[in-house]
Amino acid sequence: MIIQPKTRGFICTTAHPEGCARQVERQVDYVRSQPSISGPKNVLVVGASTGYGLASRIVSSFGAGANTIGVYFDKAAEGSRTASAGWYNSAAFERLAENAGVKSFSIVGDAFSEAIKQQTIELIRSELGQVDLVVYSVASPRRTHPVTGETFSSVIKPIGPSYSNKTVNFHTAEVSIATIEPATEDEVRQTVAVMGGEDWQMWIDALSEAGVLSEGATTVAYSYIGPEITHAVYREGTIGRAKDDLEATAIRLREQLGATGGRAFVSVNKALVTQSSSAIPVVPLYISALYKVMKEKGSHEGCIEQMYRLFSTRLYGEGDTPVDSRGRIRVDDLEMQEDVQAEVAAIWEQLSTDNINELTDIAGYRREFFQLFGFETDDIDYEADTDPNVDIPNLR
Ligand code: NAD
Repeated sequence: MIIQPKTRGFICTTAHPEGCARQVERQVDYVRSQPSISGPKNVLVVGASTGYGLASRIVSSFGAGANTIGVYFDKAAEGSRTASAGWYNSAAFERLAENAGVKSFSIVGDAFSEAIKQQTIELIRSELGQVDLVVYSVASPRRTHPVTGETFSSVIKPIGPSYSNKTVNFHTAEVSIATIEPATEDEVRQTVAVMGGEDWQMWIDALSEAGVLSEGATTVAYSYIGPEITHAVYREGTIGRAKDDLEATAIRLREQLGATGGRAFVSVNKALVTQSSSAIPVVPLYISALYKVMKEKGSHEGCIEQMYRLFSTRLYGEGDTPVDSRGRIRVDDLEMQEDVQAEVAAIWEQLSTDNINELTDIAGYRREFFQLFGFETDDIDYEADTDPNVDIPNLR
Protein backbone atom coordinates (compact mmCIF):
# COMPACT_ATOMS: atom_id res chain seq x y z
CA MET A 1 0.00 0.00 0.00
CA ILE A 2 0.95 3.68 -0.31
CA ILE A 3 1.60 4.89 3.22
CA GLN A 4 1.01 8.56 3.93
CA PRO A 5 0.84 10.37 7.27
CA LYS A 6 -2.62 10.63 8.83
CA THR A 7 -2.79 12.89 11.82
CA ARG A 8 -5.33 13.32 14.55
CA GLY A 9 -4.26 16.21 16.79
CA PHE A 10 -0.80 15.43 18.11
CA ILE A 11 -1.03 11.77 17.06
CA CYS A 12 -0.04 10.28 13.72
CA THR A 13 -2.06 7.12 13.16
CA THR A 14 0.12 5.71 10.37
CA ALA A 15 3.82 4.89 10.25
CA HIS A 16 6.19 4.10 7.39
CA PRO A 17 8.35 0.98 7.81
CA GLU A 18 11.22 2.08 5.60
CA GLY A 19 11.25 5.61 6.99
CA CYS A 20 11.34 4.29 10.55
CA ALA A 21 14.15 1.89 9.60
CA ARG A 22 16.10 4.79 8.09
CA GLN A 23 15.69 6.82 11.29
CA VAL A 24 17.02 3.90 13.35
CA GLU A 25 19.96 3.45 10.94
CA ARG A 26 20.78 7.13 11.31
CA GLN A 27 20.98 6.72 15.10
CA VAL A 28 23.08 3.56 14.78
CA ASP A 29 25.46 5.34 12.37
CA TYR A 30 25.87 8.20 14.82
CA VAL A 31 26.81 5.84 17.66
CA ARG A 32 29.20 3.90 15.41
CA SER A 33 30.97 7.15 14.49
CA GLN A 34 31.74 7.79 18.18
CA PRO A 35 34.37 6.13 20.41
CA SER A 36 33.14 2.85 21.89
CA ILE A 37 31.97 2.76 25.49
CA SER A 38 33.29 0.43 28.13
CA GLY A 39 29.83 -0.08 29.51
CA PRO A 40 27.15 -2.64 30.30
CA LYS A 41 27.14 -6.17 28.89
CA ASN A 42 23.50 -7.24 29.22
CA VAL A 43 20.81 -4.60 29.20
CA LEU A 44 17.07 -4.56 29.78
CA VAL A 45 15.27 -1.52 28.38
CA VAL A 46 11.65 -1.11 29.47
CA GLY A 47 9.97 1.28 27.01
CA ALA A 48 12.49 0.47 24.26
CA SER A 49 10.77 1.24 20.96
CA THR A 50 10.81 5.03 20.56
CA GLY A 51 12.36 8.20 22.02
CA TYR A 52 14.84 7.96 24.85
CA GLY A 53 14.36 4.21 25.42
CA LEU A 54 15.14 3.31 21.81
CA ALA A 55 18.21 5.58 21.86
CA SER A 56 19.37 3.92 25.13
CA ARG A 57 19.04 0.51 23.50
CA ILE A 58 20.98 1.63 20.41
CA VAL A 59 23.80 3.08 22.54
CA SER A 60 23.93 -0.13 24.61
CA SER A 61 24.27 -2.39 21.57
CA PHE A 62 26.23 -0.28 19.13
CA GLY A 63 28.24 1.83 21.59
CA ALA A 64 29.00 -0.78 24.25
CA GLY A 65 28.43 -4.04 22.32
CA ALA A 66 25.82 -5.15 24.85
CA ASN A 67 23.11 -7.77 24.43
CA THR A 68 19.67 -6.26 24.96
CA ILE A 69 16.11 -7.14 25.76
CA GLY A 70 13.58 -4.49 24.78
CA VAL A 71 10.10 -4.40 26.32
CA TYR A 72 7.53 -2.17 24.65
CA PHE A 73 3.87 -1.77 23.84
CA ASP A 74 3.44 -1.59 20.07
CA LYS A 75 1.07 -2.96 17.50
CA ALA A 76 1.71 -5.01 14.36
CA ALA A 77 0.03 -4.03 11.10
CA GLU A 78 -3.47 -5.34 10.63
CA GLY A 79 -5.62 -5.11 7.53
CA SER A 80 -5.36 -1.58 6.16
CA ARG A 81 -3.74 -0.30 9.38
CA THR A 82 0.03 0.12 9.50
CA ALA A 83 2.01 -1.04 12.51
CA SER A 84 2.99 1.60 15.07
CA ALA A 85 6.29 3.42 14.65
CA GLY A 86 7.82 1.59 17.63
CA TRP A 87 7.09 -1.73 15.92
CA TYR A 88 8.94 -0.71 12.76
CA ASN A 89 11.77 0.87 14.76
CA SER A 90 12.23 -2.31 16.76
CA ALA A 91 12.13 -4.54 13.67
CA ALA A 92 14.92 -2.42 12.18
CA PHE A 93 16.89 -2.40 15.42
CA GLU A 94 16.66 -6.18 15.80
CA ARG A 95 17.90 -6.73 12.24
CA LEU A 96 20.84 -4.37 12.68
CA ALA A 97 21.77 -5.94 16.03
CA GLU A 98 21.65 -9.41 14.50
CA ASN A 99 23.95 -8.30 11.68
CA ALA A 100 26.33 -6.80 14.22
CA GLY A 101 26.46 -10.05 16.18
CA VAL A 102 24.97 -8.76 19.43
CA LYS A 103 22.07 -10.65 20.94
CA SER A 104 18.75 -8.87 21.12
CA PHE A 105 15.23 -9.91 21.99
CA SER A 106 11.89 -8.16 22.04
CA ILE A 107 8.90 -8.58 24.31
CA VAL A 108 5.75 -6.78 23.24
CA GLY A 109 3.18 -6.25 25.94
CA ASP A 110 2.16 -4.24 28.97
CA ALA A 111 5.24 -3.58 31.09
CA PHE A 112 2.99 -2.73 34.04
CA SER A 113 1.66 -6.27 34.17
CA GLU A 114 3.00 -9.12 36.28
CA ALA A 115 2.87 -11.48 33.27
CA ILE A 116 5.27 -9.38 31.17
CA LYS A 117 7.68 -9.05 34.10
CA GLN A 118 7.69 -12.85 34.52
CA GLN A 119 8.12 -13.41 30.78
CA THR A 120 11.08 -11.02 30.79
CA ILE A 121 12.65 -12.75 33.77
CA GLU A 122 12.38 -16.13 32.02
CA LEU A 123 13.95 -14.68 28.90
CA ILE A 124 16.85 -13.15 30.83
CA ARG A 125 17.41 -16.44 32.60
CA SER A 126 17.45 -18.51 29.43
CA GLU A 127 19.32 -16.14 27.12
CA LEU A 128 21.47 -13.75 29.14
CA GLY A 129 21.72 -15.18 32.64
CA GLN A 130 21.59 -11.78 34.30
CA VAL A 131 21.36 -8.11 33.32
CA ASP A 132 23.75 -5.45 34.58
CA LEU A 133 21.78 -2.39 33.39
CA VAL A 134 18.04 -1.73 33.56
CA VAL A 135 16.80 1.36 31.70
CA TYR A 136 13.26 2.38 32.62
CA SER A 137 11.85 4.66 29.89
CA VAL A 138 8.10 4.03 29.85
CA ALA A 139 5.83 6.96 28.98
CA SER A 140 2.19 6.00 29.01
CA PRO A 141 -1.21 7.64 29.37
CA ARG A 142 -2.60 4.71 31.42
CA ARG A 143 -1.64 1.96 33.83
CA THR A 144 -3.57 -0.91 35.29
CA HIS A 145 -2.23 -1.78 38.72
CA PRO A 146 -1.07 -5.42 38.78
CA VAL A 147 -2.29 -6.02 42.34
CA THR A 148 -5.47 -3.94 42.76
CA GLY A 149 -6.59 -3.99 39.12
CA GLU A 150 -7.37 -0.26 39.23
CA THR A 151 -6.76 1.53 35.95
CA PHE A 152 -5.21 4.96 36.33
CA SER A 153 -5.08 7.73 33.71
CA SER A 154 -2.43 10.42 33.70
CA VAL A 155 -3.29 14.05 32.96
CA ILE A 156 -1.13 17.06 32.24
CA LYS A 157 -2.55 19.82 34.39
CA PRO A 158 -1.37 22.48 36.81
CA ILE A 159 -1.86 22.09 40.55
CA GLY A 160 -3.39 25.09 42.34
CA PRO A 161 -4.54 27.96 40.10
CA SER A 162 -5.45 27.48 36.45
CA TYR A 163 -2.63 28.20 34.02
CA SER A 164 -2.55 30.16 30.77
CA ASN A 165 0.31 30.49 28.36
CA LYS A 166 1.18 30.52 24.70
CA THR A 167 0.89 27.28 22.81
CA VAL A 168 1.11 26.23 19.19
CA ASN A 169 -0.77 23.99 16.82
CA PHE A 170 2.39 22.74 15.17
CA HIS A 171 0.54 21.60 12.05
CA THR A 172 -0.69 25.10 11.26
CA ALA A 173 1.95 27.13 13.16
CA GLU A 174 -0.87 29.03 14.82
CA VAL A 175 -0.01 30.46 18.23
CA SER A 176 -2.82 30.82 20.73
CA ILE A 177 -3.33 30.97 24.47
CA ALA A 178 -3.99 27.65 26.18
CA THR A 179 -5.77 27.75 29.50
CA ILE A 180 -5.61 24.59 31.57
CA GLU A 181 -7.82 24.09 34.58
CA PRO A 182 -6.13 22.71 37.70
CA ALA A 183 -6.07 19.01 38.48
CA THR A 184 -8.18 17.47 41.20
CA GLU A 185 -6.46 15.57 43.98
CA ASP A 186 -7.54 12.32 42.40
CA GLU A 187 -6.02 13.30 39.04
CA VAL A 188 -2.72 14.00 40.81
CA ARG A 189 -2.89 10.58 42.50
CA GLN A 190 -3.62 8.83 39.21
CA THR A 191 -0.85 10.63 37.30
CA VAL A 192 1.65 9.66 40.00
CA ALA A 193 0.41 6.05 39.77
CA VAL A 194 1.06 6.01 36.00
CA MET A 195 4.25 8.05 35.62
CA GLY A 196 5.77 7.83 39.13
CA GLY A 197 8.26 5.28 40.39
CA GLU A 198 6.09 2.39 41.62
CA ASP A 199 6.40 0.27 38.50
CA TRP A 200 10.17 0.91 38.23
CA GLN A 201 10.49 -0.29 41.84
CA MET A 202 8.35 -3.35 41.00
CA TRP A 203 10.62 -4.24 38.08
CA ILE A 204 13.78 -3.99 40.18
CA ASP A 205 12.23 -6.01 43.02
CA ALA A 206 11.02 -8.72 40.63
CA LEU A 207 14.39 -8.94 38.87
CA SER A 208 16.31 -9.01 42.17
CA GLU A 209 14.07 -11.63 43.72
CA ALA A 210 14.40 -13.82 40.64
CA GLY A 211 18.20 -13.54 40.81
CA VAL A 212 18.51 -12.11 37.28
CA LEU A 213 19.93 -8.74 38.31
CA SER A 214 23.70 -9.01 38.55
CA GLU A 215 25.57 -7.84 41.62
CA GLY A 216 26.62 -4.22 41.14
CA ALA A 217 23.91 -3.62 38.52
CA THR A 218 22.90 -0.11 37.47
CA THR A 219 19.40 1.19 36.84
CA VAL A 220 18.34 4.52 35.37
CA ALA A 221 15.00 6.25 34.68
CA TYR A 222 14.38 9.57 32.93
CA SER A 223 13.06 12.86 34.21
CA TYR A 224 12.63 16.45 33.09
CA ILE A 225 12.79 19.84 34.78
CA GLY A 226 12.72 22.57 32.12
CA PRO A 227 12.33 26.34 32.23
CA GLU A 228 10.17 28.65 34.31
CA ILE A 229 7.63 29.09 31.46
CA THR A 230 6.63 25.43 31.56
CA HIS A 231 6.89 24.90 35.33
CA ALA A 232 3.20 25.38 36.11
CA VAL A 233 2.13 22.81 33.52
CA TYR A 234 5.09 20.46 33.84
CA ARG A 235 7.42 20.40 36.82
CA GLU A 236 4.99 21.92 39.32
CA GLY A 237 1.97 20.22 37.78
CA THR A 238 0.66 16.67 37.85
CA ILE A 239 3.50 15.22 35.77
CA GLY A 240 6.05 16.98 38.00
CA ARG A 241 4.52 15.25 41.01
CA ALA A 242 5.03 11.95 39.22
CA LYS A 243 8.65 12.91 38.50
CA ASP A 244 9.15 13.80 42.18
CA ASP A 245 7.93 10.29 42.98
CA LEU A 246 10.26 8.78 40.35
CA GLU A 247 13.20 10.71 41.84
CA ALA A 248 12.29 9.56 45.38
CA THR A 249 12.21 5.99 44.03
CA ALA A 250 15.76 6.44 42.70
CA ILE A 251 16.91 7.36 46.19
CA ARG A 252 15.26 4.23 47.64
CA LEU A 253 16.66 2.01 44.89
CA ARG A 254 20.12 3.46 45.43
CA GLU A 255 20.03 2.29 49.04
CA GLN A 256 18.60 -1.07 48.06
CA LEU A 257 21.10 -1.81 45.28
CA GLY A 258 23.97 0.04 46.93
CA ALA A 259 24.20 -2.69 49.57
CA THR A 260 25.76 -4.95 46.93
CA GLY A 261 27.59 -2.25 44.95
CA GLY A 262 24.70 -1.43 42.61
CA ARG A 263 23.62 2.02 41.46
CA ALA A 264 20.31 3.76 40.74
CA PHE A 265 19.90 7.11 39.02
CA VAL A 266 17.41 9.47 37.55
CA SER A 267 18.80 11.28 34.54
CA VAL A 268 17.27 14.64 33.74
CA ASN A 269 17.21 14.82 29.94
CA LYS A 270 16.67 17.57 27.41
CA ALA A 271 13.24 18.51 26.02
CA LEU A 272 12.91 16.79 22.65
CA VAL A 273 10.29 15.98 20.07
CA THR A 274 8.84 12.57 20.97
CA GLN A 275 5.36 11.11 20.83
CA SER A 276 4.98 11.86 24.53
CA SER A 277 6.24 15.44 24.58
CA SER A 278 4.11 16.48 21.59
CA ALA A 279 1.02 15.78 23.71
CA ILE A 280 1.90 18.41 26.32
CA PRO A 281 0.46 21.93 25.79
CA VAL A 282 2.99 24.81 25.64
CA VAL A 283 5.96 22.40 25.43
CA PRO A 284 6.08 22.06 21.59
CA LEU A 285 6.25 25.85 21.29
CA TYR A 286 9.01 25.97 23.91
CA ILE A 287 10.89 23.19 22.07
CA SER A 288 10.61 25.11 18.78
CA ALA A 289 12.19 28.17 20.38
CA LEU A 290 14.79 26.04 22.15
CA TYR A 291 15.79 24.24 18.93
CA LYS A 292 16.24 27.56 17.16
CA VAL A 293 18.60 28.85 19.87
CA MET A 294 20.53 25.60 20.39
CA LYS A 295 20.95 24.92 16.67
CA GLU A 296 22.33 28.43 16.20
CA LYS A 297 24.76 27.89 19.07
CA GLY A 298 25.77 24.47 17.74
CA SER A 299 24.75 22.78 21.01
CA HIS A 300 21.58 21.05 19.79
CA GLU A 301 21.28 17.33 20.52
CA GLY A 302 18.64 14.72 19.70
CA CYS A 303 17.76 11.56 21.66
CA ILE A 304 20.75 9.62 20.37
CA GLU A 305 23.31 12.34 21.14
CA GLN A 306 21.78 12.76 24.61
CA MET A 307 21.91 9.04 25.37
CA TYR A 308 25.42 8.62 23.98
CA ARG A 309 26.56 11.43 26.29
CA LEU A 310 24.65 9.91 29.23
CA PHE A 311 26.37 6.55 28.79
CA SER A 312 29.85 7.70 27.81
CA THR A 313 30.36 10.65 30.15
CA ARG A 314 27.99 9.98 33.05
CA LEU A 315 26.93 6.35 33.66
CA TYR A 316 30.11 4.75 32.27
CA GLY A 317 32.51 7.71 32.17
CA GLU A 318 35.72 7.91 34.13
CA GLY A 319 35.38 8.20 37.92
CA ASP A 320 32.17 8.65 39.84
CA THR A 321 29.02 9.62 37.98
CA PRO A 322 28.55 13.39 38.38
CA VAL A 323 25.20 14.32 39.92
CA ASP A 324 23.45 17.48 41.13
CA SER A 325 22.68 18.32 44.78
CA ARG A 326 19.69 15.98 44.63
CA GLY A 327 21.65 13.06 43.25
CA ARG A 328 20.31 13.44 39.68
CA ILE A 329 22.36 13.10 36.52
CA ARG A 330 21.98 16.22 34.37
CA VAL A 331 22.23 15.86 30.61
CA ASP A 332 19.85 18.80 30.33
CA ASP A 333 22.87 20.96 31.20
CA LEU A 334 23.17 22.49 27.72
CA GLU A 335 19.41 23.25 27.54
CA MET A 336 19.48 24.90 30.95
CA GLN A 337 22.55 27.10 30.29
CA GLU A 338 21.81 30.69 31.26
CA ASP A 339 22.50 32.18 27.84
CA VAL A 340 20.27 29.60 26.12
CA GLN A 341 17.40 30.19 28.54
CA ALA A 342 17.75 33.98 28.33
CA GLU A 343 17.46 33.85 24.54
CA VAL A 344 14.48 31.48 24.66
CA ALA A 345 12.75 33.78 27.18
CA ALA A 346 13.33 36.79 24.91
CA ILE A 347 11.82 34.91 21.96
CA TRP A 348 8.88 33.81 24.10
CA GLU A 349 8.01 37.41 24.97
CA GLN A 350 7.59 38.37 21.33
CA LEU A 351 6.16 35.15 19.92
CA SER A 352 3.00 35.24 17.84
CA THR A 353 1.53 33.53 14.76
CA ASP A 354 3.01 36.36 12.65
CA ASN A 355 6.62 35.81 13.60
CA ILE A 356 6.79 32.13 14.66
CA ASN A 357 8.58 30.99 11.49
CA GLU A 358 11.25 33.60 11.87
CA LEU A 359 11.74 33.39 15.66
CA THR A 360 11.51 29.63 16.20
CA ASP A 361 12.37 26.36 14.52
CA ILE A 362 8.73 25.33 14.17
CA ALA A 363 9.53 23.88 10.73
CA GLY A 364 12.20 21.68 12.34
CA TYR A 365 9.73 20.65 15.03
CA ARG A 366 7.11 19.61 12.50
CA ARG A 367 9.63 17.71 10.41
CA GLU A 368 10.96 15.84 13.46
CA PHE A 369 7.42 15.03 14.53
CA PHE A 370 6.72 13.35 11.18
CA GLN A 371 10.11 11.65 11.25
CA LEU A 372 9.05 9.92 14.49
CA PHE A 373 6.62 8.00 12.29
CA GLY A 374 9.04 7.45 9.42
CA PHE A 375 7.82 10.33 7.24
CA GLU A 376 9.72 13.34 5.83
CA THR A 377 12.83 11.22 5.75
CA ASP A 378 15.41 11.66 2.98
CA ASP A 379 15.69 9.04 0.24
CA ILE A 380 12.38 7.34 0.96
CA ASP A 381 9.92 7.06 -1.92
CA TYR A 382 6.58 7.78 -0.31
CA GLU A 383 4.73 7.12 -3.55
CA ALA A 384 6.05 3.56 -3.74
CA ASP A 385 3.95 0.54 -2.86
CA THR A 386 5.11 -0.55 0.60
CA ASP A 387 4.30 -3.70 2.56
CA PRO A 388 3.12 -2.64 6.03
CA ASN A 389 3.58 -6.19 7.38
CA VAL A 390 7.03 -6.35 8.92
CA ASP A 391 8.20 -9.11 11.27
CA ILE A 392 10.29 -8.36 14.29
CA PRO A 393 13.13 -10.88 14.44
CA ASN A 394 13.63 -12.36 17.92
CA LEU A 395 10.17 -11.40 19.13
CA ARG A 396 9.25 -13.58 22.10
P1 NAD B 1 8.13 7.86 24.03
O1 NAD B 1 6.67 8.04 23.93
O2 NAD B 1 8.96 8.11 22.82
O3 NAD B 1 8.46 6.35 24.50
C1 NAD B 1 7.71 5.65 25.43
C2 NAD B 1 8.04 4.16 25.38
O4 NAD B 1 7.23 3.52 26.40
C3 NAD B 1 7.70 3.45 24.06
O5 NAD B 1 8.69 2.49 23.77
C4 NAD B 1 6.40 2.71 24.37
O6 NAD B 1 6.19 1.52 23.62
C5 NAD B 1 6.63 2.36 25.84
N1 NAD B 1 5.41 2.07 26.57
C6 NAD B 1 4.34 2.86 26.80
N2 NAD B 1 3.42 2.21 27.56
C7 NAD B 1 3.94 0.97 27.79
C8 NAD B 1 3.48 -0.16 28.50
N3 NAD B 1 2.31 -0.18 29.13
N4 NAD B 1 4.25 -1.28 28.48
C9 NAD B 1 5.46 -1.30 27.84
N5 NAD B 1 5.96 -0.24 27.19
C10 NAD B 1 5.21 0.88 27.17
O7 NAD B 1 8.59 8.72 25.27
P2 NAD B 1 9.92 9.51 25.67
O8 NAD B 1 9.70 10.95 25.43
O9 NAD B 1 11.14 8.85 25.12
O10 NAD B 1 9.87 9.31 27.24
C11 NAD B 1 10.63 8.34 27.95
C12 NAD B 1 10.99 8.92 29.31
O11 NAD B 1 11.83 10.05 29.13
C13 NAD B 1 9.77 9.39 30.12
O12 NAD B 1 10.00 9.12 31.48
C14 NAD B 1 9.82 10.90 29.89
O13 NAD B 1 9.19 11.63 30.90
C15 NAD B 1 11.32 11.13 29.88
N6 NAD B 1 11.75 12.41 29.29
C16 NAD B 1 11.27 12.83 28.09
C17 NAD B 1 11.66 14.07 27.60
C18 NAD B 1 11.16 14.59 26.27
O14 NAD B 1 11.26 15.78 26.00
N7 NAD B 1 10.63 13.76 25.42
C19 NAD B 1 12.58 14.87 28.31
C20 NAD B 1 13.08 14.38 29.51
C21 NAD B 1 12.66 13.15 30.00
